[in-house]
Amino acid sequence: MHYVLKPPCTTCVVVCYCVLRTISENNIKMFTPLLLCLWLVHVVTFFICVYLFQSNVNITQLPKNVYHNLALSGLGGLPLVFFVFRPNIPLWRELVGVIVCAGLEDVLFYIVHRLMHTGALYRFHRHHHKWQNVHAGIAFDASSVEHILCNVLPVVLLGMFCGLGFRGMVSWFMLSTWGSVSAHGDVTCNHAEHHRRPSYNYGTGVMIVDRLLGTFYKN
Ligand SMILES: [Zn+2]
Ligand SMILES: [Zn+2]
Repeated sequence: MHYVLKPPCTTCVVVCYCVLRTISENNIKMFTPLLLCLWLVHVVTFFICVYLFQSNVNITQLPKNVYHNLALSGLGGLPLVFFVFRPNIPLWRELVGVIVCAGLEDVLFYIVHRLMHTGALYRFHRHHHKWQNVHAGIAFDASSVEHILCNVLPVVLLGMFCGLGFRGMVSWFMLSTWGSVSAHGDVTCNHAEHHRRPSYNYGTGVMIVDRLLGTFYKN
């Protein structure tokens, strides 16, 4: 039997290197429990949403990239190490922040996703587009580069930009994970249409940017 020694995932190596370069004893002690908690919220929400949207999907037999990317999401939360979770943010302020995040995500995701459809970047996005008929379990079946650039960093950076505290971050991570799964859990939704017609529907949610720029395709 021949064994092929596969090189480690380049993205994982680069992200691990960044982690080791940036963490210090102080911030890692302070933020590790918070990062771990946010990562668990993301992973648990993913599996619950997959089950809720498509209970016939076997969550133990999803494409291996899905499990890989769920693990990678934890490292993608690295920028939060630099973020001070302010403890006394009023609840209303956190709720407004989450709503703003949800609105801005359409803009940010549209830009990053549309870039992934251009020239050299499409090779990172091609894997996700092998699915013409989507189901909830393939929401994160993507290359590592795409997962970090499209799925993780926009969510993390928006949360930081909107100044969310810990409660806001937890809510925002749950909402965005639900959004990703739901976008693939219904073949009649706008993102499912993007898998069939890749020149349309680059955004998320109600796809306001697509509607403004003429790339919206109603199912
Ligand atoms: Zn998709
Ligand atoms: Zn696409």
